Amino acid sequence: ETQIDDKFKGFWRLFKLCVSIDRDPGKDFLDVSDALLEEVAKVLEFPVASMLPPEAFAILRKSFDARKSQKEPKFVYTVEMDVDKLLNLEPRTWDFISRLEPKIGLIEHTPHEKAVGDLVSVIHDNKKLDQDRVHVENGHSGSLNGSKSPTAKKPKIAVVGSGPAGLFASLVLAEFGADVTLIERGQPVEQRGRDIGALVVRRILQSESNFCFGEGGAGTWSDGKLVTRIGRNSGSVLSVMKTLVQFGAPESILVDGKPHLGTDRLIPLLRNFRKHLQDLGVNIRFGTRVDDLIVENSHVVGVNVSDSSGRLPFSNEKLGFDAVVLAVGHSARDVYKVLLSHNIELLPKDFAVGLRIEHPQELINSIQYSKLANEVRNGRGKIPVADYKVVEYVKGDDKDTSQPRSCYSFCMCPGGQVVVTSVNPSELCINGMSFSRRSSKWANAALAVTVSQKDFSALGFHGPLAGVEFQREFEQRAANMGGGNFVVPVQTVKDFMDNKVSVKKALFVSATSLPSSSYRLGVKAANLHELFPIHITEALQHSVSVFDQELPGFISDDALLHGVETRTSSPVQIPRNPETFESTSVGGLYPVGEGAGYAGGIVSAAVDGMYAGFALAKRLNLYKGEI
Ligand code: FAD
Repeated sequence: ETQIDDKFKGFWRLFKLCVSIDRDPGKDFLDVSDALLEEVAKVLEFPVASMLPPEAFAILRKSFDARKSQKEPKFVYTVEMDVDKLLNLEPRTWDFISRLEPKIGLIEHTPHEKAVGDLVSVIHDNKKLDQDRVHVENGHSGSLNGSKSPTAKKPKIAVVGSGPAGLFASLVLAEFGADVTLIERGQPVEQRGRDIGALVVRRILQSESNFCFGEGGAGTWSDGKLVTRIGRNSGSVLSVMKTLVQFGAPESILVDGKPHLGTDRLIPLLRNFRKHLQDLGVNIRFGTRVDDLIVENSHVVGVNVSDSSGRLPFSNEKLGFDAVVLAVGHSARDVYKVLLSHNIELLPKDFAVGLRIEHPQELINSIQYSKLANEVRNGRGKIPVADYKVVEYVKGDDKDTSQPRSCYSFCMCPGGQVVVTSVNPSELCINGMSFSRRSSKWANAALAVTVSQKDFSALGFHGPLAGVEFQREFEQRAANMGGGNFVVPVQTVKDFMDNKVSVKKALFVSATSLPSSSYRLGVKAANLHELFPIHITEALQHSVSVFDQELPGFISDDALLHGVETRTSSPVQIPRNPETFESTSVGGLYPVGEGAGYAGGIVSAAVDGMYAGFALAKRLNLYKGEI
């Protein structure tokens, strides 16, 4: 029998295990390969790698590292070693384990951490705990809803918006037994797909069913990047990821250093999510827009809704609820006005505006990977389609010294396309999307410069919606510069740097001719210097020249800037109590997700909706545990 000190038992994490490209089975292979076992053996100083049982090791993270500072590009792994399993399968390893010394960032001991489950199992475990507690306290068997009797009236909750925040809030509340109505102004993914098709092919914009509005929210026809800045390994992020896997996302998102779904995978995932919610009894009302809140004695008691599709058997309805979760995203500018009409406090928030740059993907592959670029093979090869992330801090100009800005790449879509995210034809804004294989011939990313209240007031915009007015100003300018019909104003990066208008054909002129663009609704040569105030334009120019040093070739004849990118994050925050998630202005209202100013991206919006669901379930006495 192996005697091993407790301090070595449990799990060990081995970080920064590097496998060269020629020895690695490639980006899509997520089992423990022989080459990886050899790296593990080196850390353990175990002489025969082939004797290590692969079953005792699990890959927690796999990333591809092609940074220029590295001698050669390689795959980098974090591996978890299950000591009990290892000793069972290969007892001779104990001598080596007992010599392990923890080194922060390289070898770390994680004694007996409980693995984080998907949200549905987490909730089921919590319900079980509640049941057991009631059973013990009352000496009889409890109900699923803690101390409530099964016949007690279920609290009625409206969740407004079916983006990631609204979906996860609905999931938690419905799992805990609330009577949830999920109200969505847009259409289910099947009809939404047809509406988006009509937009990109025939220029017909449905104001209520488009790239921003509809099932799944703004992130459905997106790149589906699941990277987040809120702590990749936190329990909440992992349980969101595992929930996505439950609904059909590939398991690779749990391991991939830069997890990504793509629109083609998001659509079936959302259908499964919908089916699960409906099985739990959630009443999902598509094509139904919340036009007003019903507020009595400073408490939200319901909503007024109308048919936003023109196809439903009602025009207006008043619906009563015990609480309303507001998860409307940041393109629902009408909702901000509704909130103000009820004296609900809104605070202007800093965000960023800029342009979307597009390069041929092959160029980005060769900048990032040099000769290895051939291995990408349109997303089918061993290594991932190349991306980039750049940032530059820009000092303010003389009049502007107190305001340093940053300019950064945002929502980079390798192998993707530029899409129109306007919800109104007089405004033009764009973003990027991709499919799971990221096989298009273009790479696009926003280059966004931070802006604050000082910028809003310089243009004469004041008050809580100053940021919204600021966005709208540039969206209207961009629409005018494009000449309408969703045509996007563009300029080659070289001409933007030299302040020259690019031209269709380069005959007899010094300006660059327009390279092709992935944008389907047409582009028009324009001088993008006329779009933003000078300090934003200069910040972009300066940063682009720095990015070109970091990524030589970034400034190229084939790089095209598209205007305008304005909706990088919410221009407004709706203050709420940090523990209960309830609005600080009115009772019964729970502002969540990106539109409320608490998230920026699919995963962080889902996490915020999830926490709000737990907080509200606790308030309603449906859940007794910790949040
Ligand atoms: P949203 O997703 O905006 O959802 C809000 C929902 O509320 C919408 O469906 C809307 O129709 C509904 N709604 C609004 N008003 C009403 C009303 N009055 N009544 C009823 N319903 C209403 N993020 C990433 O992390 N990775 C990416 O790759 C990525 N790519 C993107 C690509 C594009 C083209 C776009 C537009 C966004 C992308 N984002 C991406 C951002 C991401 O989509 C958002 O951060 C995220 O969806 C915010 O989630 P949310 O639930 O807070 O709001």
